[in-house]
Amino acid sequence: MIRITTLAGRRVAVFGLGASGIATAKALVEGGADVVCSDDSAAGVEAAAAAGLKTADLKDANWAVFTVLVLAPGVPLTHPAPHWTVRAARLAGVDVIGDLELFCRERRLQNFDVPLVCITGTNGKSTTTALTAHLLKEAGRDTEVGGNIGTAMLSLGEFKPGRHYVIECSSYQIDLAPSLDASVGVLLNVTPDHLDRHGTIENYAAVKAQLVLGAARAVVGVDDKYCRAIAEKLIATKGADKVLRISARADAECDVGADGGKVVLRQGGATTEIADLAGVGSLRGAHNAENACATAAALLSLPQPLTAAEIAGGMKTFPGLAHRMEELGHQGRTLFVNDSKATNADSTEKALLSFPRDIFWILGGKPKSGGITALTPYFDRVAKAYLIGEATEEFAATLEGKVAFDRCGTLDAATAAAARDAAAASGEPVVLLSPACASFDQYRNFEVRGDAFRALVAALPGISMKRG
Ligand code: ADP
Repeated sequence: MIRITTLAGRRVAVFGLGASGIATAKALVEGGADVVCSDDSAAGVEAAAAAGLKTADLKDANWAVFTVLVLAPGVPLTHPAPHWTVRAARLAGVDVIGDLELFCRERRLQNFDVPLVCITGTNGKSTTTALTAHLLKEAGRDTEVGGNIGTAMLSLGEFKPGRHYVIECSSYQIDLAPSLDASVGVLLNVTPDHLDRHGTIENYAAVKAQLVLGAARAVVGVDDKYCRAIAEKLIATKGADKVLRISARADAECDVGADGGKVVLRQGGATTEIADLAGVGSLRGAHNAENACATAAALLSLPQPLTAAEIAGGMKTFPGLAHRMEELGHQGRTLFVNDSKATNADSTEKALLSFPRDIFWILGGKPKSGGITALTPYFDRVAKAYLIGEATEEFAATLEGKVAFDRCGTLDAATAAAARDAAAASGEPVVLLSPACASFDQYRNFEVRGDAFRALVAALPGISMKRG
């Protein structure tokens, strides 16, 4: 655990008592702060009390006695309870920050040589974070990985000289980390998502930009206009030698790019191969080429960079992440793929692009604005669609007359129908769960949805599963 000593002797409130809120409260208590925890859900308060933390209702708190209010990353500022809490705290001059900010302040205070790689973007964060950590570990570097993926930041191992931290950052966390100063900041891409909190795409892009603007060195994707503008600004303010532009497009002007399944460094008119992605199933598709380029660029930007040989070797052994284009197994010729993590149309586009035809596509859930209209150009790859959840009627209207579909209601019914139809099809059918929707109408989160799909597939007769 990382002890936060910067607030020793101060009174601190922590709002939002999920895993990261509780980790934050413990890290503060260990460091000597006087911590009060709060949440508007009884489960959160009970969990904090069970962990031996002090709890209170902050509704009528006397904010004059507090120095800092720490908000957990998942707390929606627009909901009434946190909104009024935050407003009252800010009016009283209380500093409102998140766990990432605490981490950065402590790292500066302790002045340790701990390389910090922070990764953000609308899509590809988890893959890039996991891949970066994998390569560091394979190269023998002491590495901690967490943040928005897996372990809460402040539950990670304590600061030690030379220890590397690879942190996945959501825009929520960046928003609450005004002094974020990564050794290497990575911004993959910006597409419309999470606009509920940030209002406009311009605001959302501006929040993401803070991560790279504050970093000693920056890696920025240049395949979308928002990131291209950010890259230009970075080069103008930091100098071109502090910025590596990455792209998955063969013709793009960039420093680290994808070229025929290879990651290449383009410098001074010369192109040098860094890694070959051929045969690496976990990094299939152009989107993963972007993630691999970002990873390579980040590792080349470290104060002590990895060598090209270390990068090439590590890429070959990346096992991939569950729920992201995860190949579950075969039933006869039919391949079953779990892409439950695809909660928006942009992610699902990558999944549809990965298979040329014969896709038996399971989709739906809680729809995002824009729905699946943007996916129309790929409908000819789809043999049939199976609709589930709240999005059913909206998606049916988009598919009508273009793709055959069934209204299945549940994932159980959709999996059974898709498996049956795929078994009767010719070619190389793929039953693909890539919902283009959040899961909250039927499942707690995308992991639970993906696990449910895996269990349904594992129960099919004659199935041969890849992993346990
Ligand atoms: P995040 O953590 O940002 O949500 P993940 O790595 O978990 O990203 O991938 C989420 C989904 O987005 C996956 O379903 C995958 O198919 C798609 N995806 C992965 N990388 C990219 C990328 N660089 N650009 C666009 N989509 C991507």
